[in-house]
Amino acid sequence: MNRVIRSGAIALTTAVATYGYTVVDANPAEAYHFFSANCRWDHTTVTVANLAYSQAGYGAGWDSMMTAWNNTVAEVEFKAVGSGDKDQADFKVVADYYGNIGWYGNADKSNVCTNGHYPNGVQHITAQVNRSLTDGRPNNNNNAVLTHELGHTIGLAHMNVLENPYVIMYDGIGYDYRGIWLPQTDDIDGALVRYF
Ligand SMILES: [Zn+2]
Repeated sequence: MNRVIRSGAIALTTAVATYGYTVVDANPAEAYHFFSANCRWDHTTVTVANLAYSQAGYGAGWDSMMTAWNNTVAEVEFKAVGSGDKDQADFKVVADYYGNIGWYGNADKSNVCTNGHYPNGVQHITAQVNRSLTDGRPNNNNNAVLTHELGHTIGLAHMNVLENPYVIMYDGIGYDYRGIWLPQTDDIDGALVRYF
């Protein structure tokens, strides 16, 4: 290999270009982002009202993806509360038909906080999935959306396609599924930095 590189300028250029590409691909420039207000909870067991059980499999999907976050980020725990406690939950998850309006899921007000903290127990944030666009797709395409929106609810913001499309916080994950539906290393690192 060294002998090839030393044999001429063209070989050297090729080798450098290939090496550079490999490094960029394996280690995308920056990991995770937070909302500009640095929103987070002031506690690490975050209570959730799951209002999607009447929406086909979406209620179970939200529960499963909460468990996925709980299993990968020990410092934060989503805790679904029973019906008697739903009104006091920190945020709520829903599923409904919102029409062909450009988003597969969103986490309304997850970028809105005061002095860096979300208000506790008032369902300030609503994480929602848009069945108008997600019904009929394979489960994991939609699980990716649910996991992504849950990431927003703990303060994670987007990564764009140039930064890294192979993270759950990739902004195009609704329409540009990349074969991942669980939190990835960069997503987990972001949550750990925010809550550890
Ligand atoms: Zn998003």
